[in-house]
Amino acid sequence: MKKGSIVRGLAGAFLAGCLLSGCQAEVASSGAARPVADEAAAGKPAGTARAAAGSPAAAQPAPDAASGGKPAGGAGTAAGPSAAAAVPAGSEERTSVEQPDSVLVLVNKQHALPEGYKPSDLVEPDVPFLFKEHLEKRLMRKEAAAALEKLFAGARQDGIELAGVSAFRSFSTQRAVFGQYVRQDGEDKARSYSAVPGTSEHQTGLAIDLSGRSGACAATDCFDGTPEARWIAEHSYEYGFILRYPKGQEALTGYQYEPWHIRYVGVKAAADIFKQHLTLEQYLGAL
Ligand SMILES: [Zn+2]
Repeated sequence: MKKGSIVRGLAGAFLAGCLLSGCQAEVASSGAARPVADEAAAGKPAGTARAAAGSPAAAQPAPDAASGGKPAGGAGTAAGPSAAAAVPAGSEERTSVEQPDSVLVLVNKQHALPEGYKPSDLVEPDVPFLFKEHLEKRLMRKEAAAALEKLFAGARQDGIELAGVSAFRSFSTQRAVFGQYVRQDGEDKARSYSAVPGTSEHQTGLAIDLSGRSGACAATDCFDGTPEARWIAEHSYEYGFILRYPKGQEALTGYQYEPWHIRYVGVKAAADIFKQHLTLEQYLGAL
């Protein structure tokens, strides 16, 4: 089998395995089939997919305007934040994070995981997903997986039935997908809608996209305002998760609002971030 067909086959397999989204990066990027992007999956900011279909320029992720938001400046001691320093505002430069195994690791367009990084403690959380197969995207780091199970149980007690859409995504998966897009559309265009390998938070094993059990609106804009989305926004912090891409914070995070994408940071950090209405970038900079 030729290399190209392997890649196409790979992408096709993802497509088949992904109901609606959460695996957007794997989906063809052209035409009406283009899904709403999830940050990690595609790198294209959520909420722009429909607009983007008609005007590609609108799909540009709030570029690294993010760093204009004063990312993790003085932080140099803690795990994640240490990597956040020294990237000038507006820069498209990336630094490699120094402690990828920290639960506070900061991964965004300026801060990439080391090439090939894969957490050593990935497990399958015992929660329902929108697919039956035991795929890589079920995996999370052990601590995050245990917290996720508690989160699902808490939601259920409140009458909210959640489902996982997509959790871990390996460097090699993202590289294969991104490479396919580069061949298809050229690198500049590919970067506008797909995450550069190493910059997807899903590679940390600490992030997951959620939906309701029906899968309706999974990882798409219409998830906003649903009972599941409201529950996630109000209660995730109790279990150590944050809404990583809050509404109106694109300049700081580099991504538009994603009510489905939560990130494990531990209970204390999550509570601080929630109660002070911070982004992870701000929280780490403020440490
Ligand atoms: Zn996500």
